[in-house]
Amino acid sequence: MLKKVGIAALGAGLVLSGMGLTAADAAKPEWAGQGKPEWAGKPEWAGKGKGKDKEKDKVENVIYMIPDGFSSDYASNYRVYKGEEAVWDAHLKGMFTTYSANSAITDSAAAGTAMATGVKTNNGVVGLDAEGNELESILEASEKAGKSTGLVATSTITHATPASFVANVDSRNNETEIARQMADSGVDVILGGGKNNFLPASEGGNQDERNLIREAQDEGATYVETREQLLDVDDLDVDEGDRLLGLFAEDALAPELHRGETEQPSIAEMTEAAIDALEEDKDGFFLVVEGSQIDWAGHANDAAWAMSDAEAFEKAVEEAIEFAEEDGNTLVVVAGDHDTGGMTTGSNGSMELNADVLQNVTATGDHMAAQLNEDRSNVAEVVKTFTGFDLSEEEIGTIREADNASLAINHVISDRANIGWTSTNHTGADIPLYVFGPKADNFAGFHDNTDLPKLIAEVMKLDK
Ligand SMILES: [Mg+2]
Ligand SMILES: [Zn+2]
Repeated sequence: MLKKVGIAALGAGLVLSGMGLTAADAAKPEWAGQGKPEWAGKPEWAGKGKGKDKEKDKVENVIYMIPDGFSSDYASNYRVYKGEEAVWDAHLKGMFTTYSANSAITDSAAAGTAMATGVKTNNGVVGLDAEGNELESILEASEKAGKSTGLVATSTITHATPASFVANVDSRNNETEIARQMADSGVDVILGGGKNNFLPASEGGNQDERNLIREAQDEGATYVETREQLLDVDDLDVDEGDRLLGLFAEDALAPELHRGETEQPSIAEMTEAAIDALEEDKDGFFLVVEGSQIDWAGHANDAAWAMSDAEAFEKAVEEAIEFAEEDGNTLVVVAGDHDTGGMTTGSNGSMELNADVLQNVTATGDHMAAQLNEDRSNVAEVVKTFTGFDLSEEEIGTIREADNASLAINHVISDRANIGWTSTNHTGADIPLYVFGPKADNFAGFHDNTDLPKLIAEVMKLDK
């Protein structure tokens, strides 16, 4: 149920007047309006639905998956890391631009807002246009259309990307206000990190007064905070008003490299649990899943963290596609929000790609740096322990003298993998768009990030 009032109707962004849909029109498949498409009768995703009466080609559910910071160089390196094609590769449909209203290079708040509402805004702003008007997101429009909704992330759930789908605040840093808006939003399934933003100061949290977890429980929500509890959740009926809130860490969840040391679920497990709960809604659902930390790995120039978190995200995409194949009326959209780090595929004049050596890395650069002693005399030992690499005297010297030991370790490791970095911030690279399910071909072509929710709304027949 939607609580907000007085929001600019779809911010004019999602209005399906046909305006702004030129890319989609251009992308109209050749067979459109000419009878049966050539693949009719044998699309991978069709005909397997459990519902006998299900209408073919109809998009009832959407799983919008955002690997934060993931650009085509991540995709290329990830293929080398994995040793074979990634699950998304076969579903590439197009590319899109990411610039924000006030910058050639976007941050995740402006990018999330564009991808959620179809409107450009300034960096740092969540769910408001550049003039400060509240925008309606495609998740909220889906909710209005009677669908259940969910948010999954590996950062705090109140972080910029998931926040863009439910909150309207002028600063992404105001995570306590985002938590309040999220709690009041009526989103049925919320799974991620950031428990502190939901608890009052009296219980060690960041809220002044409200205990948003207790409020949710009082309203009948099931609350979990460990992987075991999540996997134990009995069948929920979102159609009957059941809700699921899972906050598995006080702050962000652990990087995938260190998740085994925690009691946190994987992003694939959270995605599966969210789908399990949401699929009960006969009107369909809209689920957003963010692989939040690929971006953080990019900022840190940590190639092993980037690849291992991409791998965890791929498992979540596998869950989504598996469900979509079974269901037949589910669209899976996979789109990063921008590049982070200006990652390159190859480096230092070499003509080889070695991202597979990152399979042997068992810790983030931050974790390794934290194991260094005062004079960093144990660099060789620490790096060997967590990577298997024998460092040269030169590499040891570079790390010992570096201002930022973590960054220096990450550069040494990235060099071994022939992965280069050109920034510790975002870049303006175009981003690949992958889509699976009915009407996936509508997404073919070159777009802007603001086109994505419009294209999704169009195939969902929202606002009709
Ligand atoms: Mg993010
Ligand atoms: Zn970032």
